[in-house]
Amino acid sequence: MDEKQEMIQIKNLNKSFGDLSVLKDINMKIYESDVVVLVGASGSGKSTVLRCMNFLEKKNSGEILIEGDPIESDTHNLNKIRERVGMVFQHFNLFPHKTALGNVVEAPIQVKSMDKQTAVKEGKELLDKVGLSDKYDVYPSRLSGGEKQRVAIARALAMKPDIMLFDEPTSALDPELVGEVLTTMKTLADEGKTMIVVTHEMGFAREVGNWLFYLHDGCIVEQGPPDEIINAPKAKRTQEFLSKVL
Ligand code: ADP
Ligand code: MG
Repeated sequence: MDEKQEMIQIKNLNKSFGDLSVLKDINMKIYESDVVVLVGASGSGKSTVLRCMNFLEKKNSGEILIEGDPIESDTHNLNKIRERVGMVFQHFNLFPHKTALGNVVEAPIQVKSMDKQTAVKEGKELLDKVGLSDKYDVYPSRLSGGEKQRVAIARALAMKPDIMLFDEPTSALDPELVGEVLTTMKTLADEGKTMIVVTHEMGFAREVGNWLFYLHDGCIVEQGPPDEIINAPKAKRTQEFLSKVL
């Protein structure tokens, strides 16, 4: 048997903001080297799922296990756990006053106390990997959106996370820049990185994803291999959504 390790398990996750119930009994299992695509209309709770996985939001009830460990915000060192779960945001969130390389080496030096020489060596390798070997010393304001997002990916990778979360990483990009970011993500997937990707890019979902969750109003209404769901969605909500994005 090919036993893959469970990287993330979510059991009956509930999350509310005040009276607004945003996630309702979410259950997910994500295995090593999975590329899981999370799809749903705006406001369905996709970002909140990722933010709960990274403990940027506190759940109301349920369980979140990271590599088998049930994590509680009150008792665990969340900074240590966040080192295992990297995140890339729609709007890049780069430090504007730091160069591309400065952005990438910041967390390894400050959070992991890596020596500067090693951090710079590894940072350059990561920028090379995302195709930015000529941009080490460039500030974010001089980078295109696609380049900024690739710096953000390199920055997240610099912490050597076991899991990468992507929240609509190409939604803020001009259409001609989407491809370079998706190609970078595909490279990571091919290397076996465990990834959870919120995206409306159904081509990427079909080609790179191996499992798709469709979220509606805080509930998972459909899940399965992306190709099957995209070709023949069963739930009415999924059908309606896909007819708009395809
Ligand atoms: P998606 O990423 O699918 O667009 P979100 O997870 O961002 O959806 O949001 C789900 C719901 O939760 C929305 O109704 C949104 O308005 C609400 N919400 C998200 N974050 C907050 C917050 N910090 N405070 C109050 N409501 C929030
Ligand atoms: Mg969102």
